Amino acid sequence: MVSHYDIDHVGDVAAILAAMPVKHLIDNGPPQTTGKGIEGRYKTYAAVYDKIDHAVVKPGDKIPIKGMDVSVVAAATKLVSNGAGATNPLCATTAAPEEITGDLEDNMSIGLLFTAGKFRMLDLSDLEGAYSYKLMCPRNPIGPVDVYHVNVHGQAKGMTPVLAQALGARVAIMENGARKGGDPPAFPMLRAAPGMEDIWQVHSSMAAGKDGNPPEDFIANLDPQCQGKWLRLTARQDGSFTITNSRNGFSKTYKARN
Ligand SMILES: [Zn+2]
Repeated sequence: MVSHYDIDHVGDVAAILAAMPVKHLIDNGPPQTTGKGIEGRYKTYAAVYDKIDHAVVKPGDKIPIKGMDVSVVAAATKLVSNGAGATNPLCATTAAPEEITGDLEDNMSIGLLFTAGKFRMLDLSDLEGAYSYKLMCPRNPIGPVDVYHVNVHGQAKGMTPVLAQALGARVAIMENGARKGGDPPAFPMLRAAPGMEDIWQVHSSMAAGKDGNPPEDFIANLDPQCQGKWLRLTARQDGSFTITNSRNGFSKTYKARN
């Protein structure tokens, strides 16, 4: 699933396909952004998907994966309707983030809600704050989740309380680099979220320092020179889940909620 066409999301598709078997590719459709090298990247990617089953998804679609429900809640700047959700009280106390104009690509992101039994996880890829606000206000169409995959690598432009603090997530997973994402304002916002137990990160954030970063066991890569260590999330039908750090084998299990 290629969420959008920024280089950190589509740049390595050819290399990944060469390294592992892939039968289906899913994306948000032809590019709507110009500049930033997107046209060239899309051309390279399109040449690859010509040979593989390819589907374009829109909000409301489901991606068929056996044993779980994968619902598309955002794609190509369109969002799933929030008409039926419960009122999100944070909308009354939070100003709508200003929309960043001139670069639409982050908000082209495909956002997915994963449900496996009682386990739920939200991943909105690089959806920025202004679009997250539109998704989550005035009503919350997502409901409670166990794991919140933090938007835009934990960059400030992806963070808004109406999302980060409305999900009741027990764990936040931040897919940041040493110098990309992991912005200092992300950490107090996540830690103030009701029900939040831990933040896990792909890298130690150089900008966040000791006050922001979680304890080292919760970080896959400590060295700014990335060692390619990963986090593994294993979820169970009863809603319990385990996260494992490949760097040191540290693992934590979150018991099913009553
Ligand atoms: Zn990104």
